[in-house]
Amino acid sequence: MEALATILFVGAGVGFILGLRMLAHPETARKGNLVSACAMGSAVLGTLVTILEARRGLASDAVETAASASPDALLYVAGGLLVGAVVGIPAARLVKMTSMPEMVAIFNGFGGAASLLVGWGTFQRASTAHQSAQRVLDGVTGDNSAITTEVNVSLTALLGSFGGGDGRFITATIFLAILIGGVTFTGSLIAFGKLSGFITTRPLLYRGQNLINGLLLMVIAGAGVLLVMNPEESWVLPVCIGLSFVLGVAAVVPIGGGDMPVVISLLNSYSGLAACAAGFATDNTLLIIVGALVGASGIVLTRIMCLAMNRSLANVLFSGFGSVTKQSSGAKGEHREARSLTPHDAYYVLEAASSVVIVPGYGMAVAQAQHAVKELADQLEANGADVRFAVHPVAGRMPGHMNVLLAEANVPYEQLAEIDDVNPSMETVDVALVIGANDVVNPDAKGNESSPLYGMPIVEVNRARNVFVLKRSLRTGFAGVENPLFYLENTSMIFGDAKATIEALVGEFKSG
Ligand code: NDP
Repeated sequence: MEALATILFVGAGVGFILGLRMLAHPETARKGNLVSACAMGSAVLGTLVTILEARRGLASDAVETAASASPDALLYVAGGLLVGAVVGIPAARLVKMTSMPEMVAIFNGFGGAASLLVGWGTFQRASTAHQSAQRVLDGVTGDNSAITTEVNVSLTALLGSFGGGDGRFITATIFLAILIGGVTFTGSLIAFGKLSGFITTRPLLYRGQNLINGLLLMVIAGAGVLLVMNPEESWVLPVCIGLSFVLGVAAVVPIGGGDMPVVISLLNSYSGLAACAAGFATDNTLLIIVGALVGASGIVLTRIMCLAMNRSLANVLFSGFGSVTKQSSGAKGEHREARSLTPHDAYYVLEAASSVVIVPGYGMAVAQAQHAVKELADQLEANGADVRFAVHPVAGRMPGHMNVLLAEANVPYEQLAEIDDVNPSMETVDVALVIGANDVVNPDAKGNESSPLYGMPIVEVNRARNVFVLKRSLRTGFAGVENPLFYLENTSMIFGDAKATIEALVGEFKSG
């Protein structure tokens, strides 16, 4: 049985590593998801086997036996599976594709909360055992030094034996699981609010904000040192939990809407680091492996997102970028008019085009237009045009959002291009077809220093011969910034739902 549990845990670890690797490529991503899900199943089975083993008194580790053999242990695992299935299955089925980013934010938050609870639970278990021992000691009368020595174990030593390591190290990892888990939990709730529109996407700033946040972090660090040195001080742990919640909110509210991709990936990384710390606190190797994988891949993603926005992480976290109401490059009060075309008129230009760049954005996800877009791309290619998809790393509302949608519509991977691949030849592109994208094609990001988007690399569709922008109105995108692209000479707006417009264009091609 012990060998079976080990095989299941090793299988789970290998499955998570393989799954993550497969997730890195659109063609294997679905299988990667399945492999990761099976790995999680293997981890749960391994846990059940360990509990059964412990109940039969077969586990080698005495402490593990005592903990896992509790009659409630199986009940807890079964209860967890039931609650997880009741919440997870309908959520996966019912949540719309456009709400996936919010779901990812909530998942990150729950991951952090789970690690916090594991850390807290480990501490409470040792603390309760310590209190029971103290009560026994209080009841010892006379000179009974044998019992006194046996029972008088410090809380630090108990934490060490419960976590399977040095007591101070285990207490430090509990503190880290609580600190990072707490910050991830409330930070993710704020990110969820910003993504779903419950909370303004504008950065919330006040004087001395970075100083106050820095002081808060120092107070928490001080409390952490106190906890490690003297875990018997029972008030410290709840204070750490409360302050970590406050820090999570304080760290995310000053970050503006345009920078949310970085926040989401950073919180994803935090949730992994918190799990890793919880793994150390509970001597759970699999949790350490999985936490380290999520933590490291989240950091890599954060770096990719920072590069995509041409910003340093420190600048995103501490500058309150995008706070001031800024002008687009059109002068204030200047009356500008956008030209609009019908799909019928646009068809004639597309029909004559030999080079087309399609730029998908969040609006394509809202309209669920990806299948229609693929059909239009096929029609254009059949008509002799060279068609490429320019995928901006922060297009949509979560990292890889556009890649997921285009893969779902079976757009060949070779047709996807990065911004640096399409921008140099943009002048030779006959039509840039912007489908529900806005911020990622805003020319102010390149040419207007006062723009909140200034510095972010964009798909430079403004340099194409013709630009068709498919959206419902002239409204701003997620960053809330005006887009001068709509008023350029070579730009035509095709107003309406993106899917309906694309279907109309496909209809035009079919009827020739
Ligand atoms: P934007 O949010 O800039 O613009 C999307 C546009 O889609 C809107 O202007 C809207 O205009 C249009 N739209 C909405 N529904 C439809 C529809 N049914 N049919 C046609 N158009 C529609 O999207 P981008 O992809 O250009 O940029 C992403 C933004 O989100 C960036 O600011 C990025 O920083 C931010 N972000 C990205 C994250 C990520 O990880 N990728 C995470 C969080 C934020 P209208 O209402 O007029 O139709």
